[in-house]
Amino acid sequence: MAYDSGNIFAKIIRGEIPCDKVYEDEHVLAFNDINPQTPTHILVIPKGAYISYDDFSQKASDGEVAALVRAAGKIARDAGLDANGYRILANTGRDAHQEVPHFHLHIFAGKNLGRMIKPADK
Ligand code: 5GP
Repeated sequence: MAYDSGNIFAKIIRGEIPCDKVYEDEHVLAFNDINPQTPTHILVIPKGAYISYDDFSQKASDGEVAALVRAAGKIARDAGLDANGYRILANTGRDAHQEVPHFHLHIFAGKNLGRMIKPADK
């Protein structure tokens, strides 16, 4: 599957669509989710054209990988989320219901997030 440069996050990176930005550096952009699932819900994305975690983990440079990992930690710390904790999640592909085909990390926080997966869903 080829990267679709018309996806919504590609448009945000190009500045064609606004976002509520919380962080930016050479390789990374982070912004608040438009439809937050928790009191704090931040999306952290690479600026490079990667479809998913699978794509990013194969093709991104070591510098891009390091930048994304370090940025996610810094964003969480700067928002004070390390005090009570947070969850980082990357939906990848169909079974995970990935909606936007540009790799992104979700940072969820601001309440008790419960267990990772409901026992009934196993
Ligand atoms: P996924 O299901 O692909 O892991 O999550 C996509 C996320 O992107 C969803 O949480 C959705 O609310 C968010 N989202 C979709 N379109 C936009 C947008 O235009 N702006 C922002 N800030 N978030 C968006």
